[in-house]
Amino acid sequence: MQEKPSKVAVIRCESYDPEQVRQGIARGLDLLGGIAAFVSPEENILLKPNLLRGKGPEAACTTHPAVFEGVIDALEQAGCGRLTYGDSPGRGNPENVADRSGIAAVAAAHHIPLAEFNAGSTVDFPAGEQTKQFEIAAGVQEADAVISICKMKTHRLTRLTGAVKNTFGCVYGLNKSASHARFPEAHAFSRMLIDLNKLVAPRLYVMDGITAMEGNGPGNGDPVAMHVLILSSDPVAVDATFARLVALDPSYLPTVVEGERMGLGHWREDEIDYVGDDWHGMVNPDFNVERLPVADENMIGLSALSRVRNVITRKPVIDGDKCVGCGVCVDSCPQDPKALSLDKKGKGHVPRYQYKQCIRCYCCQEMCPHEAIYVKTPLLGRLLIYRSSKGRRR
Ligand code: SF4
Ligand code: SF4
Repeated sequence: MQEKPSKVAVIRCESYDPEQVRQGIARGLDLLGGIAAFVSPEENILLKPNLLRGKGPEAACTTHPAVFEGVIDALEQAGCGRLTYGDSPGRGNPENVADRSGIAAVAAAHHIPLAEFNAGSTVDFPAGEQTKQFEIAAGVQEADAVISICKMKTHRLTRLTGAVKNTFGCVYGLNKSASHARFPEAHAFSRMLIDLNKLVAPRLYVMDGITAMEGNGPGNGDPVAMHVLILSSDPVAVDATFARLVALDPSYLPTVVEGERMGLGHWREDEIDYVGDDWHGMVNPDFNVERLPVADENMIGLSALSRVRNVITRKPVIDGDKCVGCGVCVDSCPQDPKALSLDKKGKGHVPRYQYKQCIRCYCCQEMCPHEAIYVKTPLLGRLLIYRSSKGRRR
C-alpha cells in the first residue's frame, strides 16, 4: 500500500539532448530522495523500458534511448553496476525490437546484458484479486529490483498506457495474448495489470513523455511533443498525472480507479505531493485521445442488450486503402477461432472481421504494421457510455 500522499516529480525537458535528459532525471530523482531511496548497489536491477514493437525512437512507440541512458547514468553514479534490461514485445523478439528502438546500442555501450524475456515460468500470486498466477519472464524473476521506464502513449483498450501497463511486458511471449483473451473487458484487464504490478513491484517508474504518442496508439499513433518526464514510486499517480497533462479526467481510466481501490496507489490531486515543475503550465488540451470514460459492460448494461452489442460497442475497423494483406492482425488475434480471417495474403486482400467472435482486445490494431486498423465507436455507443458515466465521475 502506497503511503499518502504519493510523491510525483514532474520535470520539464525540452528535448532528447542526452545532457538535458540526464540532468532532468537526476533532478527528478533528487526531489524524490535520490536513487538510493529505491535501489542499492548490491542488488541486481532490471531496467524495463517499453519495447512494444520494432520501430525507431522517432516513432514514439518505444522508450527513447536517451531516457533509458539517463536512468543508467543515475544508477552508475550511485555505484549500481549489476544491471540488466528487457521487455517482452507485442510482436517480434526482444533482441530485434531492442536493436531497432536504439535501446540495445545504449545497453551495449554500458555493457548491460539483455535479460531472458523469451522464456519464463509460472509464478503464484495468492494475494491477487483478479489473477493468482502469472507467466513471468525469467529475466524478471532473476532481478532483485525492477525500474520501469515507461512511455506516454494512448491505448485503445485502457485509453492511456503508461506506468501501470508497462509492467505487462514482464509476462513473456504469447502469454500476453492469452491474458487478453481471458480478460477482454477493460476493467478486468486493468485489475489483472494491477495484480501484476503488485507482484513485480517495480521500485521506481520513470515516464518518458518528452515526445508522447497520441491518436491511434499504442503502436500506430502520432508523435506529439509534451516535454515532460514523470518520476514516482506510485504508478497510479504517474498515470493520473499523465491524464492531467492531456486534460483527461483521470477517473476515466480503469487502471487508475481500480488501482486506487486495490491499494496500488493514489490518483486524486489532494493525495499527490507534486514536486519539480508546475504541471499546470504544461497541459496540452489538444492531445488526441478519446475523451470518454472507459466503459465496462456492466456499466452500460450490455449484457442485457446482447442482441445489439455489435452495433453499439467500439470495434476495430480496417482501412482497405492502407491494408497490404500481410496477415499480421490475424496472427495477433488471441481468439480461438480467430475473430478475423484473411483468405489470401497480398495487396488487394483485406481481412474480414467476425465481430461476434471479437472480444475487443485491439491486439490487431496494436500490431498492424501499416496503421490500417482504427477503432470506431458508434454514435449510439458513445451516447450510452456518456449517459451511464454521469454521476459516477469524481
Ligand atoms: S495487419 Fe494491417 S496491413 Fe496487415 S492485413 Fe491486417 S490490417 Fe492489413
Ligand atoms: S479481432 Fe482484433 S480486437 Fe477482436 S479479438 Fe481479435 S485481435 Fe482482439
